[in-house]
Amino acid sequence: MTDIEIAQKAEMQRIATLAEEKLGIADEHLDPYGHYKAKLSLEYLDSLKDRPDGKLILVAAVSPTPAGEGKTTTSVGLTDALNRLGKKAVVCLREPSLGPCFGMKGGAAGGGYSQVLPMEDINLHFTGDFHAIGLANNLLAAMVDNHIHHGNLLQIDQRRVTWKRVVDMNDRSLREITVALGGLNNGYPRTDGFDIVVASEVMAIFCLATSIKELKEKLGNIIVGYTRERKPIRARDLDAHGAMTVLLKDAFKPNLVQTLEGNMAIIHGGPFANIAHGCNSVIATKSALKLADYVVTEAGFGADLGAEKFIDIKCRKSGIRPDASVLVATIKALKYHGGVAVKDLAEENLVALEKGIKNLERHVRNLRENFGLPCVVAINRFTADTEAEIDLLRKKLAHLQVDVVLSEHWAKGGEGAEDMAKAVLNVLEHCPADFKFVYEDDTPLWGKMEAVAKKIYGASEVVADTKVRNQIKRLQDEGFGHYPICVAKTQFSFSTDPKLLGAPEGHVVKIREVRLAAGAEFVIILCGDVMTMPGLPKVPAANRIDLDDDGKVIGLF
Ligand code: ADP
Ligand code: MG
Repeated sequence: MTDIEIAQKAEMQRIATLAEEKLGIADEHLDPYGHYKAKLSLEYLDSLKDRPDGKLILVAAVSPTPAGEGKTTTSVGLTDALNRLGKKAVVCLREPSLGPCFGMKGGAAGGGYSQVLPMEDINLHFTGDFHAIGLANNLLAAMVDNHIHHGNLLQIDQRRVTWKRVVDMNDRSLREITVALGGLNNGYPRTDGFDIVVASEVMAIFCLATSIKELKEKLGNIIVGYTRERKPIRARDLDAHGAMTVLLKDAFKPNLVQTLEGNMAIIHGGPFANIAHGCNSVIATKSALKLADYVVTEAGFGADLGAEKFIDIKCRKSGIRPDASVLVATIKALKYHGGVAVKDLAEENLVALEKGIKNLERHVRNLRENFGLPCVVAINRFTADTEAEIDLLRKKLAHLQVDVVLSEHWAKGGEGAEDMAKAVLNVLEHCPADFKFVYEDDTPLWGKMEAVAKKIYGASEVVADTKVRNQIKRLQDEGFGHYPICVAKTQFSFSTDPKLLGAPEGHVVKIREVRLAAGAEFVIILCGDVMTMPGLPKVPAANRIDLDDDGKVIGLF
């Protein structure tokens, strides 16, 4: 059965009933969006602030491969398993973006028997949050051009407008465009471009703000461009942030849905994992910690990128502290890191597996030593995995003294993840976290990049051209040196070269560009090309997606 068939066969329960039964949330605190989705009221969430926090479990993975690792699926499976063991557990996930949904095959609502429901809604428009975020972004863009059109009192240099428009669709033809063609009444022509919604700084801000007040404040700080004298122009200077906040007021409430097994999931926000920090909203995670005893959440990409940003950006800004981590790996992914081609991954290959394990070992070390998080290794089981491969993996990891569990949540739901849940509970009970950032606030920006590159990536040095060095120096001098950094690099390798698999050492990290996210309050360090507006593949998933005669969505994963 496909993911969507499994999801459509499931009997959903009314969200209000479940919220009451599982988390004791009374009806009046929910804003229902139909029967199966609801937003949590902000007043209610605020009223929980004196409750103790539950335990937070961060799910990360080995460096991604084309074979897929299964972080979302594992997060859902672990939550269902914890509930099966009688624990009050909630999963916090990112909202899927529409672009990839119609592009490559691959859902963002889990898969197999570890999914969140209603799967079609969550993958498609859900509760409209991304539309609101896109509109808030585009309102600001419209106000910039409008300001220039009506006399440009702020003297925005049209060549230095940095704020782009966004749409939630993979559409490469919008990457670079010219706007305001057609004459006097249409404004001043200039080159512009679209990013996908998840790449908007509004999304990053939305996911880091802890209150509407803070949301508005940070939106006001967004830099939209510069004057000829390089003076920054902020959203506040255009008086745009109030109206932007109005557009976001409902979106800002976290969304409550259910897993296939009727457990609670909060799905809210979804920033890019390269130019942004790549995890669900702070308000969702904080709320979940007040509502449940165990909260499972996912970081984007591999642990070198997603978990590092979770720790150094999200945790630093919010005070959230994970208690334990789960590192997801698959036998296929490890064989890929050991040099096996994608088409041969289904065949047993012990030699390649042994080679590829180095990638996993580096991630385990990072989680434990550099972030101070106890760790459980979860092998997300695929049908092709052989006993010999699983045995070898266990044997090779014995020296790390880490719990290695086989998890079959994809095939069996929560029941298949009980071993993982028990291992996680054991680690939570016996191994206290010794939480650490990779760098401190007062480390200069260059030093922060060196710390991440050397400690996490295994690099020997960081280099950059004079122009980039000067940009970093300017940001430091202008008072942005205390911001955390957000590294955008390939997710496929610890290095900046997607082809360097396994656990490369002694490589050089070259910074190509830096960008300031003045609203989200981090400095983006780009080490490689990053695509902020993806394109569709030759045969997009959209070709298969359809509505049948009964009004049922088909072909969506
Ligand atoms: P991530 O969150 O790491 O991107 P997902 O959990 O979304 O990964 O899984 C990616 C894809 O792989 C999904 O389509 C999912 O159904 C599939 N998948 C995950 N685990 C398995 C498994 N054990 N066997 C087969 N397919 C799987
Ligand atoms: Mg995922």
